Amino acid sequence: MKLSDSIQYLKGVGPKSFENYKTLGISTVEDLLLYFPFRYEDVAGRKVLELLDGEKATVVAEVVTPANLGYFGARRSRLTFKAKQGEVIFGVSFFNQPYLKDKVEVGQMLALYGKWDLKRQQLLGMKILSTVEGEEGEAGPDADFQPIYHVMQGVKQSSLVKLIQTAFDDGALELLPENLPPQLLEKYRLMPRQQAVKAMHFPADTKEHKQALRRVKFEELFMFQLRLQALKHHEKSGRKGLLIKYDKEKVATKQAELPFELTSAQQFALQEILADMTATTHMNRLLQGDVGSGKTVVAELSMYATYTAGLQSALMVPTEILARQHFANLTKLFPELNVSLLTSGLKVVERREILSDLKSGHTDMVVGTHALIQEGVDFHNLGLVITDEQHRFGVNQRKILREKGQNPDVLMMTATPIPRTLAITAFGDMDVSIINELPAGRQPITTRWVKHQQFDKVLKWVKDEITQKAQVYVISPLIEESEVLDLKNAVALYEELSDYFKADARIGLLHGQMKNDEKEERMQLFKAGTLDLLVSTTVIEVGVDVPNATIMIIMDADRFGLSQLHQLRGRVGRGQKKSYCILVANPKSESGKQRMQIMVDTMDGFKLAEEDLKMRGSGEIFGLRQSGIPEFAVADLVNDYNILEVARQEAVEIFADKNDRFTDYLEKFDFETAEFD
Ligand code: ADP
Ligand code: MG
Repeated sequence: MKLSDSIQYLKGVGPKSFENYKTLGISTVEDLLLYFPFRYEDVAGRKVLELLDGEKATVVAEVVTPANLGYFGARRSRLTFKAKQGEVIFGVSFFNQPYLKDKVEVGQMLALYGKWDLKRQQLLGMKILSTVEGEEGEAGPDADFQPIYHVMQGVKQSSLVKLIQTAFDDGALELLPENLPPQLLEKYRLMPRQQAVKAMHFPADTKEHKQALRRVKFEELFMFQLRLQALKHHEKSGRKGLLIKYDKEKVATKQAELPFELTSAQQFALQEILADMTATTHMNRLLQGDVGSGKTVVAELSMYATYTAGLQSALMVPTEILARQHFANLTKLFPELNVSLLTSGLKVVERREILSDLKSGHTDMVVGTHALIQEGVDFHNLGLVITDEQHRFGVNQRKILREKGQNPDVLMMTATPIPRTLAITAFGDMDVSIINELPAGRQPITTRWVKHQQFDKVLKWVKDEITQKAQVYVISPLIEESEVLDLKNAVALYEELSDYFKADARIGLLHGQMKNDEKEERMQLFKAGTLDLLVSTTVIEVGVDVPNATIMIIMDADRFGLSQLHQLRGRVGRGQKKSYCILVANPKSESGKQRMQIMVDTMDGFKLAEEDLKMRGSGEIFGLRQSGIPEFAVADLVNDYNILEVARQEAVEIFADKNDRFTDYLEKFDFETAEFD
């Protein structure tokens, strides 16, 4: 037998079940061995008397009344019986699982998994895990700890377990090679691979299982980091980057002409970028900085440097509003250059002209939305590609843009503070520059959380502030599922506020379904101070810069994620004046209340992002699915952060090691595919 053999050769797998196993991702013997349980059921169970209201747990109890099955409606049913644990008798009910009736017999011990209803002294059953033989407590140590696998129709838990056992009996386990260097096994006291895999499926006890899990998680995260490091080294050594010989003096002169001095963090980031550009290696850099930290100007100067080297640069942004804003900035800053704006709303003739200018090299810099990566967009000599708010773009989109030049240098900017955990995971193959200070003279934004009942008071205050020339954003509630409702909300809010303020404030409305020039016009009116208050959906979420705006009001703030709220809040506090962010929300859930409080308490985007991650899980955050972060089978980015960091350190050191201690190990690593074999 080989690990790569199909499981069809194992006893008990027919053509039909083979198809089912394949759907689970199990085709080979190796797949089978590494298909780990996603949790373990402590079948010994808990004492019902100790359960809290609403708690989910496994309870072992004896059935004391026959099961009664009642139907209501066509498909809905309820199965009820009474069970006894020690002296305590409690009710059990299962909804819509009529077939369980056969499993319930008076006198039998069952391991029931469900949710405890304290008031009714009743277990709302979700699953019957097993029937427990004999008296309570008599089952052996192994039986207390059952692995639970993800299965599907056509593959039963028991058949899967049996199949794994068969593979073990046939000697499959002994074929699994150790894939961690011995130095690490020793250093971190990790279980050998074969032993760990065995213990993942059939742990002797919780202690052994814990050790196995630690080893398996380490392996998963370490392999991932090794791949990232390999990619990074491969990019650096293999592919030649562009050598961008920029004109130092011209760049310095431009910088001196800015209306402000760069902060030292900005200066440092700029130097890192310029150094990358002049090196023959390929730049692949992430520029991170909290909202308002001034990433744009760093990007602009990098683009200018590229121009002085005789090359074109492109800046890709996620929204039209942002594209126009950047375009306006660039033309103002570099009146002597040819800057183009490429968006999807262009007339055919305009578009044709812009494309031909790009191709001929007439254009020095271009700003655009997704329109930049469409077919037919060709450059003369693209030297630098920048993406702003990069988390909004998938890996593929960035790649397409990059392939439009001959391996141009790449800079990605993000204001959404990617939690460190994720940054080193997803972007471990990139270099990172961080702008960790705000420009001088900024006043901290005061954040308040108010209930809807207090909204009137807020409006009175806003009225006063507007008389004193304040400019205000009001964000309408987010309805993610429905654009129509989203719009309706914004319009209703606009009308309500127009009614309230009458002649006291000039109010505008901005939403995603408006035409581009309409959006642009509203934005300009607001920027010019012709509007006092702008009601908007989240279209203004990222990047928009109106330094004079000082009040941000967010309706139903609890519907937004923390990172998004922080982004919205970042629209104010951009000038010298004192700014405020008002969260209007009556959250029902505890976590909703917590989130509002965290927003009030912290201005630190990185901390907020970490909290967001904890509360929502990594998959939820700003479309991480497309960001290139894999989903791990056993490891979890939030809880296994420590292991991740250690794994990364070790991977970095292995590649940097000068003493040849890992040569043998790395020889097995394929640098082309970044696969380990
Ligand atoms: P972000 O990092 O969120 O993209 P921006 O680049 O939009 O931030 O900058 C926010 C505001 O701060 C802009 O109005 C910009 O002109 C201003 N700004 C940037 N750098 C400085 C600086 N060094 N001193 C003062 N103001 C600055
Ligand atoms: Mg920005």
